[in-house]
Amino acid sequence: MKDFFEQNAQEALRCLEALCAIPSPSHAEEVRARWCAQTLRQYGARQVSIDGAGSVVCADWARERNNVLVMAHLDTVFDSGTDLTLRKDGGIWRCTGIGDDTVNVVAVLLLIKAMLEKGARPERGVLFALNTGEEGLGNLKGCRQLMRDWAGRVGEVISFDLYRDEVYTDCIGSKRYRISASCEGGHSFHDFGRPNAIAALCGILTELYEYRPEPGTDTTYNVGTMRGGSSVNVIARDAQCLWEFRSRDGGALAAADAHLQAVLDRRRREGVTLRCEVVGERPCRGEVDAARMQSLAADCEEAIFEETGVRAKRAAASTDCNVPLSLGIPAVCCGLVRGGGAHTLGEWIDVDTLMDGCRAAENLLKRRLKSI
Ligand SMILES: [Zn+2]
Repeated sequence: MKDFFEQNAQEALRCLEALCAIPSPSHAEEVRARWCAQTLRQYGARQVSIDGAGSVVCADWARERNNVLVMAHLDTVFDSGTDLTLRKDGGIWRCTGIGDDTVNVVAVLLLIKAMLEKGARPERGVLFALNTGEEGLGNLKGCRQLMRDWAGRVGEVISFDLYRDEVYTDCIGSKRYRISASCEGGHSFHDFGRPNAIAALCGILTELYEYRPEPGTDTTYNVGTMRGGSSVNVIARDAQCLWEFRSRDGGALAAADAHLQAVLDRRRREGVTLRCEVVGERPCRGEVDAARMQSLAADCEEAIFEETGVRAKRAAASTDCNVPLSLGIPAVCCGLVRGGGAHTLGEWIDVDTLMDGCRAAENLLKRRLKSI
């Protein structure tokens, strides 16, 4: 006899195809959110809503306390002009955003459908969310809102994201800045000698790239974008860049921030205005109960292994789990399918691994809810 997921394989692929075709950059996830909410209502879910941050919430099995929050994010790193053509090469499907995180959104939809059709009555409460703002400058908006709205009612968090070969049990915090320089400008020849905003910003970046972070803290930095100036014979009046520090350690992140401020102070001079604005902040891990964390992580690894045969490796990443972990709530992030190329135009997944991935998600949920 075919199991639920085998019977729903076509439905899963239909959802995947439909969602891949809807652009969903951070801060513009409305269309995807509406599509998912409508699909859940068609499946028979009764307590589906869209919260203040635009995330879809399904509370059919939510309880007063100790809920497991199960989530996957709606947004992608690609802006709305990106080519969303889905290319099928046998079981390998290629499309921007397909593995990060569209396919995991589909798995959550299917998981809810399975619970509805099986008439699930779990011993423990579970809350499902398809959330906004996980990527880049979304700044974990959706997850922050969920943790605020459901404060005191979430016992642990499972976020399905990326691929099945890694389980993220630790988080990487980050701080992101827009640094800008501006000055009077002028003619490249007649006004030669006046400060140049691009040159000023490059000086800052060169000094920042000499930074040696505290060893053993996995602290990194990157300048991600840079813009400025207007023409070849004009002294640049403005320049700006996006800068990021990441770290596993909150103290190391604070030290990196202090270093940035010191470099800016040192580089301030007459005729150049420097500005530094924080555009994103992802918290580092707080005090999380080690035994509860271990139990959740082990169940996650076992469920993936039982259904897919893959032994996922433990790793650290920057995900929605940063928010609950910073609040001391156990949280793991794992993927469900085979795939690669996240955040690139070459993103792909192996759809033949999707049903086993859905079974792994159900298996994990059964372990955490004691039953379904
Ligand atoms: Zn993701």
